[in-house]
Amino acid sequence: MTDESPRSFGFETRAIHAGSAPDPATGARATPIYQTTSFVFEDVDEAAALFNLQKVGFIYSRLTNPTVAVLEEKLANLEGGVGGTCTSSGHAAQILALFPLMGPGDELVASKKLYGGSLNQFANSFPRAFGWKVTFVDPDDPENFRKAITPRTKALFIESLANPGGVVCDIRAIADVADAAGIPLIVDNTMATPYLCRPIEHGATLVVHSTTKFLSGHGNSVGGIVIDSGKFDWRNGKFPALSEPEPGYHGLRFADTFGHLAFTIHGHAIGLRDLGPSMAPLNAFLTIAGVETLALRMERHCANAKAVAEFLKGHPAVAWVNYAGLPDSPYHALAKRYLPNGAGAVFTFGLKGGYEEGVRMVESVELFSHLANIGDTRSLIIHPASTTHRQLSPEGLKAAGATPDVIRISVGLESVDDIIADLDRALNKLG
Ligand SMILES: *Cc1c(COP(=O)(O)O)cnc(C)c1O
Repeated sequence: MTDESPRSFGFETRAIHAGSAPDPATGARATPIYQTTSFVFEDVDEAAALFNLQKVGFIYSRLTNPTVAVLEEKLANLEGGVGGTCTSSGHAAQILALFPLMGPGDELVASKKLYGGSLNQFANSFPRAFGWKVTFVDPDDPENFRKAITPRTKALFIESLANPGGVVCDIRAIADVADAAGIPLIVDNTMATPYLCRPIEHGATLVVHSTTKFLSGHGNSVGGIVIDSGKFDWRNGKFPALSEPEPGYHGLRFADTFGHLAFTIHGHAIGLRDLGPSMAPLNAFLTIAGVETLALRMERHCANAKAVAEFLKGHPAVAWVNYAGLPDSPYHALAKRYLPNGAGAVFTFGLKGGYEEGVRMVESVELFSHLANIGDTRSLIIHPASTTHRQLSPEGLKAAGATPDVIRISVGLESVDDIIADLDRALNKLG
C-alpha cells in the first residue's frame, strides 16, 4: 500500500496493509522487529539534517523506530488522523497529548467518568508534577464543559465509551464547545477502538489510546498512542510550545515549519526526546499483529457482550446491567449514533448484594480471569471498588460508576455459551 492509496480501501484492508509495506531491506512480508537502539548515519551531513529535523529518518529508538513507525501509520490511518506518536503505555500517551498544550497554571476540563487510573493521574499527579489544574465535570450535559472553561483552559478530555462501562459521550456536542473556545478536544478511544468509533469524524482534535487493550488484543503488551487529526490551527496564541520558537531546535517554530504534522513531529522531537516514554519494538510488533484482526475480533467481542448483557439482565441475582447496547440503556441513542457497529465488550452490572457479594463473585468464576485489564481474548472480571477504584472516596466511586455492588467484565472471545455458564454458576452461589 502506498501513502496515497490507503484511505480509499475498507477498514479491514487498511487494518492489515496501512503502513506495512514489505521490508525494503529484506522483502520480509511481516513487519520485522527492528530491535536496535540506533541507526548508522550515511555521513555527517545526513546526521546534521536528521538532527535539524530537515530530513525524516531514524536516529535513536527513543525518538523513532521502523517497527513502531508502522504501527503509528496504521493507527493514524484507521482513526482518520495525519500522524501518531506511540508511547510506552496509555497513561504515557495522555501525558504526551497534553505536554505540548499545557504549562504550569494551565487548566484541563475532563469528564468525571473516566478510567480510574486516569482519574488518579489527572487529579493527583498532574497538579503535583506539572502544575496542571484539572476540573472534572459530568459529561452527560455538554454545557458543563462550557461552564468550566476559563481563559487558562487548554483542552477538554473525554472517553468516547467510558471505562468502567456503559457511558457514551456526545462527542460532536463537546467538540463544538471546544471549537467555540479555540481549544482541542482530546478523546480517549481505548474502549471503542477505531472499528467502533472514530472521534476525529465527530470533531475531535486528538485521539489517545491504551493500545494495551483491544488494539493489541491478546493481553500481552502494554502501550499507547496519540493520534492527531491535523485539523487544529495551533497558532491562535494559546499554544506557544507549538507556535513559538523552540530553543531546543535553534528557534524552529513547529506550527510554521511542519503545518498539519506539527503536533506529531513535536511529539517525537520534543515529547519522546525529553520525557522518554517510547514504545518497545517488540510491543509494536505484537500490537501490529493484533490490529490486523481488529475488525473480526471486535465484531465477536460485541456479539458475545450483547448476549452476556441480555443473560445478566434476566438473572435474579443481578440488580441492573449498564450496557449501552441494550435498548433500555440511557446511552442507547448515543451508542447508535457513535458506535453503530456495536457498544463494545466492557460493561458493568450491579449485584443485589453489596461489597461482600462482589468479592464472592470474582472469587467464584472459573473461566473468567480476575485481573485488572480489559480487551483480552480471554474473558476478564473485576470488582472495581476493591481494586482499580479503591483509592477513590465514596463520592468519587459514585461519580465513576464504581459503587461497592458493581462488577466490571470484559467479555472475551471464548464460546459464548461457556462464558454465560461460568457467570451463571458464580451468580447462583451468591445470596
Ligand atoms: C487502560 C486504560 C488507560 C491506561 O492505559 P495503560 O496502557 O494501562 O497505561 C487509559 N484509558 C483507558 C480508557 C484505559 O482503559
